[in-house]
Amino acid sequence: MKGTRAKMMTGLASMLLLLSGISSAGMVDYFTDNGYGNPVATIQHPRAEYYNGKTYIAYQGPHEDPYVCAYDHAAKKWSGPVKAGENPMGKTPDPVDPKGPDNHGRPALIVDGKGYIHLIFGGHGGYPRFGKNELGTPGKGKQTHVVTSRPEDISSWEIVENVDPFGTYSQFVKMDDGDIYLFYRHGSHQSDWVYQKSTDNCRTFAPPVSVLKHKAQESDPNLHDAWYAWFENGKGDTITASYVYHPCRLKGHTKERYNGYYMKMNCGDESWENANGNVLALPVTKEYADQNTLVCDTFTTKVKSNHGTCHVDDEGNPHLFFRQQGQVRYFRWLGNAWQAPVAVPGGDGDMIVESPKVVRMLLSQGNSGGGEVCWWKTTDGGLTWGKESCLISSPDSSYAASALVHNAHPDGRMVVSEHNRAQNHLYRKLFLLGDSGPVGRPEEGASNLGDCLKNLEAVQPGPKPDKAGKKNRNKSGEEGDGDE
Ligand code: ZN
Repeated sequence: MKGTRAKMMTGLASMLLLLSGISSAGMVDYFTDNGYGNPVATIQHPRAEYYNGKTYIAYQGPHEDPYVCAYDHAAKKWSGPVKAGENPMGKTPDPVDPKGPDNHGRPALIVDGKGYIHLIFGGHGGYPRFGKNELGTPGKGKQTHVVTSRPEDISSWEIVENVDPFGTYSQFVKMDDGDIYLFYRHGSHQSDWVYQKSTDNCRTFAPPVSVLKHKAQESDPNLHDAWYAWFENGKGDTITASYVYHPCRLKGHTKERYNGYYMKMNCGDESWENANGNVLALPVTKEYADQNTLVCDTFTTKVKSNHGTCHVDDEGNPHLFFRQQGQVRYFRWLGNAWQAPVAVPGGDGDMIVESPKVVRMLLSQGNSGGGEVCWWKTTDGGLTWGKESCLISSPDSSYAASALVHNAHPDGRMVVSEHNRAQNHLYRKLFLLGDSGPVGRPEEGASNLGDCLKNLEAVQPGPKPDKAGKKNRNKSGEEGDGDE
């Protein structure tokens, strides 16, 4: 029965390929196989951007270095991967233990107003040798900025020494007027979240400005207030921030995160306000956030809460989700209060707000042993959600989601990495998912591992199967990417 169904599916896939004018011979549905570790995640973003006919994609490849591919939608042609820089946290050879890679140095990508492509990568708080971290505690790596030598050409990259080395979870937000904001955590856990603004296509950045403040609790110096945040364009010249609280304990440290918060910046005067429109004093402390920006309290009930994404509707009202209890919990601002949360069965992903009542989420979700990435849709403002099409699914692999492609073409909405529990290494296939499924590529261009597997065998004979597969799957769902 299963075999018949599989044959029918294969037949259908071939028919679809023929209809779309592509020969199935030699085509694969991934665009590269040299993603490494946790090559993509929602927190570093944009993961990719559609610009002038092409989708540019950045991901973590071998040695945790940043790699870039590009897809020309009209010509249906891929280019890359091109290695765009060196991650100071990369190890040689590539570890096969899932705990080996640091994963914090994943790149974020933006295309500037002149078509140059920028990446920020390689940071996990910055090595102490870079000096005193005035806004937090040092960590590892170095937040690094590279840019293409020519516009719309990924073949050659140059380092630009103009951002703070103490960064991790780097995120770009590009405004309609061309200003680009770089948000990041300024060090390891016990650090402020900050932004640096560029008005000249990332050639220079203003000094860091603190948004979320880290500090020890007065009543308990062992307990330090820390944060995980996600920044995105709001309506007009505004930027939204959605974030969760991390009680960071010096002794007895855990990864626990709780609550959900929201606020937005008016870029004109760089003032901030809460959902009610009340002006906020920055940087926001834990006590101040609890009073002024709280969306949901999960600390009282000890329900863990991880960051999700946030987008606004035409009226500027935020729609957001946090990840709680293995599900996505959707909230929206009703004008005077937050709508009660509604659970949507997905582990992680992103959403498109079409109108105040119509929202679509593209979510990765584990299923019995495998995984899928599917659309979910509401037409009643998030009160009920229905499952729509699945863009990819597998009986034995799960998928790690990333933030939706910035300015996405319908044929390239999201980049996901495949995590197969049976494999004995950490190289991952990467897929660009569009409205009709993965964007295929001739196998020759998608096979980029070279001698990687051979090298592993030579140095570490007989690597053990990825025992952490189940753990990874949970992490890529409930816990985010497990390396936050
Ligand atoms: Zn901590």
